[in-house]
Amino acid sequence: MMPGSAGWFLSEVPLLALTAVGTHLVMSGSQTLLHRWLGHRRWSGRFYRNHVNFHHVYYARGHLISTVYRGEEGNNTPFFLIPTLLAGGGLFFVLPGAVFLVMALAGAASFYGHVYFDKVYHVAGSPLERFAWFRRKQQLHFVHHLHANSNFAVIDFFWDRLLGTYREPDEEAL
Ligand SMILES: [Zn+2]
Ligand SMILES: [Zn+2]
Repeated sequence: MMPGSAGWFLSEVPLLALTAVGTHLVMSGSQTLLHRWLGHRRWSGRFYRNHVNFHHVYYARGHLISTVYRGEEGNNTPFFLIPTLLAGGGLFFVLPGAVFLVMALAGAASFYGHVYFDKVYHVAGSPLERFAWFRRKQQLHFVHHLHANSNFAVIDFFWDRLLGTYREPDEEAL
């Protein structure tokens, strides 16, 4: 089959879907590990100070939600973009074009998803609040703010189950 033809594309759909899902899992798994091992470990210096002194101070017990997102200072996200782009860029030379394209798009969407979710969890009036699955993830993220040794994931909390850091929301109101 000719690369680029409709038939070729259809035959590649399972591989491309797997690539998209796999890329997202690599992103969400790395985010969980980096949050745990850099964001909350003193030895990581600047990453620790940025995360704990800003995000966790802005959003703590009693004020987990604000009207405007307070993330302008102490944001570690740009630092994660650098290794991600380097690793992704290296794969350009080894992966087939379509696979690389799907990986790049899925990686960008996943990255944006993490930034977006961490933001809207803390901002009042998000349109996603109408969805039970969103409110559930939001509660699990708030658990992290109350118990900083748990729930390091932002989107896929099964990573915390694997790491043994998963914690259900408390019975008390948050
Ligand atoms: Zn944290
Ligand atoms: Zn947060």
